[in-house]
Parts: sequence; C-alpha cells; structure tokens
Amino acid sequence: MKTSIATVSISGNLREKLEAVARAGFDGIEIFEQDFIADAGTPREIGAMIRDHGLEITLFQPFRDFEGLTGDLRRRAFDRARHKFDIMAELEVDRILVCSSVHPEALGGIDRAADDFAELGDIAAGYGIFVGYEALAWGRHVNDHRDAWEIVRRADHDHVGLILDSFHTLARRIDPDTIRRIPADKILFVQLADAPMIEMDLLYWSRHFRNMPGEGDLPVTAFMRAVAATGYDGPISLEIFNDQFRGGRPDGLARDGYRSLVALMDDVRRLEPDIRVALPDIPARVHVEGVEFIEFATRGAEAEALERLLGSMGFTRQGQHVSKDVTLWQQGKARVILNCETTGFANSAFAMHGTTVCDIGLRVTSAADTTARAIALGATPFQQVIGPGELDIPAIRGVGGGVMHFIDAESGLADVWSLEFRQTGGADPVGAGLRAVDHVAETMNYDEMLSWSLFYTSIFDMARAPMVDVIDPDGLVRSQAIRATDGGTRITLNGAETHRTLAGGFLAESFGGAVQHVAFSCDDIFQTARSMAASGFRPLEMPRNYYRDLEARFALDAGKLAQMTALNILYDEDANGAFYQFYSRPFGGGFFFEIVQRVGAYDGYGAPNAPFRIAAQKRLMRPKGMPG
Ligand code: MG
Ligand code: MG
Repeated sequence: MKTSIATVSISGNLREKLEAVARAGFDGIEIFEQDFIADAGTPREIGAMIRDHGLEITLFQPFRDFEGLTGDLRRRAFDRARHKFDIMAELEVDRILVCSSVHPEALGGIDRAADDFAELGDIAAGYGIFVGYEALAWGRHVNDHRDAWEIVRRADHDHVGLILDSFHTLARRIDPDTIRRIPADKILFVQLADAPMIEMDLLYWSRHFRNMPGEGDLPVTAFMRAVAATGYDGPISLEIFNDQFRGGRPDGLARDGYRSLVALMDDVRRLEPDIRVALPDIPARVHVEGVEFIEFATRGAEAEALERLLGSMGFTRQGQHVSKDVTLWQQGKARVILNCETTGFANSAFAMHGTTVCDIGLRVTSAADTTARAIALGATPFQQVIGPGELDIPAIRGVGGGVMHFIDAESGLADVWSLEFRQTGGADPVGAGLRAVDHVAETMNYDEMLSWSLFYTSIFDMARAPMVDVIDPDGLVRSQAIRATDGGTRITLNGAETHRTLAGGFLAESFGGAVQHVAFSCDDIFQTARSMAASGFRPLEMPRNYYRDLEARFALDAGKLAQMTALNILYDEDANGAFYQFYSRPFGGGFFFEIVQRVGAYDGYGAPNAPFRIAAQKRLMRPKGMPG
C-alpha cells in the first residue's frame, strides 16, 4: 500500500506542503491543479522538486465536465484533455482524475459516456497515461460509484479505470459493500475523507467540512474494508477540503493525515484478515486501565501553595524520590507528583508555563506496545537521562508537547513507586475519601481539537462522545469527552475559540499549558466535602440562585439540598444515574481541581453546570484573568 495525500488537504504554498508531507512519512502526493498553477516553476521543475522530496506524484487532478457533451463542446473537452496530458507528461505523472460532469449541457446516457471514455482512453494511451473516473456526489447524471463503474466497464479500455472516493459514496449513504464486486485491476485510485454528520448541501459539506478518516462520523473503515477486499493495492490518498485545515499548520495536518491512514489500515487488517494486500503490522489499540499519576512541574512558593492545597484535599506526602527533588502525594489510587527539579523536562515546562501538569502517567496493558503503536502512528518518543536507580519507563510527547508515560504490571514498571521513592508516610491512606482520577480536562484552541481526539482514539482503545457546547459568559467553548471503551479512563478536551473565555484565558496565561483541571472520584461526596473543609479546603462558592434552580429542576430531598448548598456541591442527573461535583478555587494561571461522585451509570461531566461554574470562577479572577 502506498500512502498519499492531495496537496489541497494541507495549508501553505506548494513547497511548504511538500516538506510537511515528506516529513510526515507519506509516499506520494496528488497534485491539485491550482497548487501547480500557482507555483512559479515549470512543470518539469515542479515534477523534479516533488521527486527531490522523496515523493511520487500519484495523481493529477481534477479534470472537470468532460463526458456527455456534443458538437463543439465535445471537441473542446477533448482539446482540454490533450492540454492536460501535455502538462502531465512534463510533470511525469501518469494518472488523472476525471470527475463526473456538472455541465448544464451534458446529456447523460451510460453508453454515450462510455464512448467518450473509450475515445479518451485511446488518446491517453498515446501518452502512457491512465484516466480515472470519479462519481461526484452532486454529479449531474452520474453521482454514484456504481454508475461510474458501469461506464468504466462499458468503456472497456486498458487506460480507463474507476476512482473511488469515500466521501462521495458515504455522503450519499451508498452501501460501501457494493465496492466488493468491482475487480481490483479496474480501480485506478482510491481517495479517502471522513466528515462530521451534518445535514447540508452535499457540495458545501464536501468543500468545507471533510476531515481525516477517524475524525468524522462516516463509516470510512467499512469503505476501506470493501476496497481492500477487492485486492486493490494501489495508492490510498487523503483528499480533504476543510476550512479549518486551510488555516492550520502544514506539519500538524500532514502528521494527523498520516496517523489517520496508518490507524485505518491497521483496523482494516484486523477486520479483514483474509485480504491479500500487505499492510504494516503494528500492535493493536492499547487498553488504558486508568491514570497512574499526574505530575506537576512547580517551584518555590507555588510548590508550597500546591502542597497546602493537596494537603487540604486529604493527600499526604507518601514518598520522596531517591535522587531527585520530586515528591509523591497519594490518596487511594490517586497519585500526584510534584517535580521541583531545576534541570530536565519538568524544569523547561515550569519555565514555559509556570506551575503546570507536565506529565500524565497512564496504566496500560503493555507499555512497550503502547509506544510501538504510538511511534508507528507518528508520535514523538520522549527520552530523558535515566538517573541511578530509575526505571526506563516508556514515554511519548502528547499533542501539546506534554509528556505521557506508560506503566504496566507485565514489565515490572508498576514497581516504580517502591523502587524510586523512599516511603515518607503511612501506607495506603484514606485521606478525605478520594479514590482515583475520574477525568483529566485538557484545553486547546478549538481548531486543534481534531488533532487531540485523533491522537487519543488512534493510539488507545478510546472513543469520542458527542461534542457539547459550553457557554462561557465571554464566548463558546466546545467540549468533547474521550473515554476508554470500558469507561474507566476519561479525558475531556475543551476547545477555546477566544482568549476571553475561561479556557482561552488559561491557554493565554499558561502559554499553552494543556491540563486545566483534574477531577478525582469519591464514594460519598458529602463526607469528602466535610472532611476537606475540616482540613482547610476552600471550595468554589456557588450562588444561591443555582440551588433555587436545582430545587425547581429536580426532585431533591430538602435536607440534601441544604447540605449541597452549604458544601457548594453541584448536581446533575440523566436517565442512567446522578452526578455530584464540587470544585477548588482557581490556582496559578487558572488550574483547578474537581471532586466528583457518580451514582449509577451517569456518564457525563455535569455539562449543564459548566456555565455557573465558569461564572463563579471568573468572579474570583482579576480582570486580566489572574486569580484574585
Ligand atoms: Mg475526490
Ligand atoms: Mg470536569
């Protein structure tokens, strides 16, 4: 299988695109005519430049409004084709995409179109060029790959084949399994794109909202399984038109594209074990059992304040690192590490963001498989000098530059706590009743959300929940939960569109810090809240109006409601259960802790409460966005 991407999928000028595509690991590019026309080089120079980047030109596109015309219009269509073939010869590319006509004068008729393609095939053969026919979802007469295939079949020409594009097939809800009956040698090229499920005009949807396979809602895997089942072994190419991507960074987009393709091919390989196509063998998506630790980079007075806050939440200092200025705070299975080192990664994270979560440790089934899969998917491995007595724990960089370490039992990494830390406290403290990390909330710019969700869902056995809008008094924040398929590990992504929102302000204040809050679970939130209050914890105060509204919305016991009011506990419920939560006051650049209790199978994060939580937090921040 050859990996390819259309130049139109990436931002930048042609040269910037080529560099990003080559760096990401693709084998080739489809050259979009506009990119070629806009460049100052001659076709020969451009062809050479592309090959100098180690890239093959897999396709030249698009050639529009060709078939079904008569008289002068038909003659001109063939002249235009010869002109393109001349350019292609100079570029040294031998495949061209002809998309189904939208010309108002095009007549339709399967045999008429087949005759046009047979004649075009004769001309193309003289150039050594192969013509591929693609059914646009909004084509005037041909808008279904099954009709395009019938035309190609009747054209019966060695230089005419079919081009399949997942968007055009899936957007029209055409069963992708119909592809399984097309012979592989008649499929000239395959383009892939996903898209979010939105009801809108097909052309507008396609031109503005396509995204990488796995980032949207279309059954691209089922499409690709059908393609692979035919035995097709040619280029697999991403063709993504997306408004957000046009303004994105070429490197990030190319990396996401490559990641999405490799993950998709791996899924296909597992779901279609009998296909003959050779696909790369990488470890399966890794199961995340839980969050093993949260590590802060911190220093001086901020470290002392954080220690006081953790102490008031019932954490105790359990361990001191054998050789570093690093301490372990624990309660139940929740571990917080405070890293005050003045060298290494934590030091640079502190210098950049101030006190910040610089590292997240995930407990996985196999740490080695996790890094092997992540690196095959284009993630950057993270390595730091291993000090005396330290374990070599596999790690990678996350999307925002933070570090993720992976701990498993099978290779003895779970012993890190007894091996690297000297015990300073009693064993397994109950504290205030916090049990484990419930979720980690990360903040990013809205246009980076797809990168983050693709990162988690392609490496780990995790799935996306639908996106929710969170209303901040100063703008909208989109929130999307990513969850291990067994529900155990949860990460929420919060995309800020403006710096005036709490999430956006946090991004600005922390210079791109990612983890904005960490939520811990408990079994009796009233007991926990009282215990923490007794230790000096000061919760985020919720207004009376909030509780009067709760009283109106839910049938809550008066005594319970009074306790919730006194303890600043927020409430939500759905058909499956109930949810209690309260918050710490903002810390540093806007970081905070959350305590939650899930009752029954409640699966959310208290989204209806978010506007009131945000307003309460903003009351505590100075106008610039700093805590008061
Ligand atoms: Mg296409
Ligand atoms: Mg939360």
